[in-house]
Amino acid sequence: MILFKEISSVQAKLHSYKKQDTTIGFVPTMGALHKGHLSLIELSKKHHDITVCSIFINPVQFHDQVDFKKYPVTIEKDILLLEQAAADILFLPSVNEIYPEGRQTLKHYDLDYLETILEGKYRPGHFQGVCNVVHRLLAIIQPHQLFLGQKDYQQCLVIKRLIHSINFTTGVVIAPTVREEDGLAMSSRNLRLSDEDRQKANTIYKALLYIKANSKSGNIEHITKQAAEHIYEGGFNKIDYIEIVDAFTLKPVADWNKKTPMMALIAAFLNDVRLIDNMMLQD
Ligand code: AMP
Repeated sequence: MILFKEISSVQAKLHSYKKQDTTIGFVPTMGALHKGHLSLIELSKKHHDITVCSIFINPVQFHDQVDFKKYPVTIEKDILLLEQAAADILFLPSVNEIYPEGRQTLKHYDLDYLETILEGKYRPGHFQGVCNVVHRLLAIIQPHQLFLGQKDYQQCLVIKRLIHSINFTTGVVIAPTVREEDGLAMSSRNLRLSDEDRQKANTIYKALLYIKANSKSGNIEHITKQAAEHIYEGGFNKIDYIEIVDAFTLKPVADWNKKTPMMALIAAFLNDVRLIDNMMLQD
């Protein structure tokens, strides 16, 4: 694996590959890598000659500065994991490399209602920050395909919309959520859980299973309330949302509707650690 910190050097290398008609898969991350990230690398390697991974903790997507400061950093371990996964290139830019003019040249993207619901509602500005960094990274790497995790499902839809709006041709592959043995979705933020809270953390997964098992038969509002009770009983102290939505539009669905693919999404806090997860409701 070759590590690049500068845009000009990674571009020069990628340019030499592209001359040989090499295809490029790209996995953008914020580091503190786990098996979820590695599954994306593996998938990209199956489809492409060259797999590029980036590690960049994007300051402009954090509306909560405490969350930004506490974001886990495990760069040496990340490099080892990427070597083992046989990633070809690691792009590890500094904040100055990505935002040489600071926040002055940040763009605003039309994300419509997608940025006012779910994560967008509870993390104002978050998706604008995501779009700014993904636009810059795509322009630098110019991959054929981008590999994203279903765990951040709304982010996947936002990035698809971004790619369409900037007229890029990059394809998007959404890979399944990788889970711990007890069902907890793998996440870099899990590192911030105390041992005690880690035991409780899979309650979100159990609540999603409960919703999936009951949504066909029951009233959706009632099922969501029951799921919220399970989550509080499981030791969570705050729920941002539990929503059952149309998986294409993310708009709320009032009744079970087998014609529309439906998804349940949850965001909730264990002390100050905010966890998110989701599940498709059709089998
Ligand atoms: P992050 O480093 O959290 O920004 O995530 C980088 C990429 O990895 C995003 O596309 C995430 O959706 C994806 N990802 C994070 N956790 C998982 C997981 N448990 N399973 C699959 N993909 C994941």
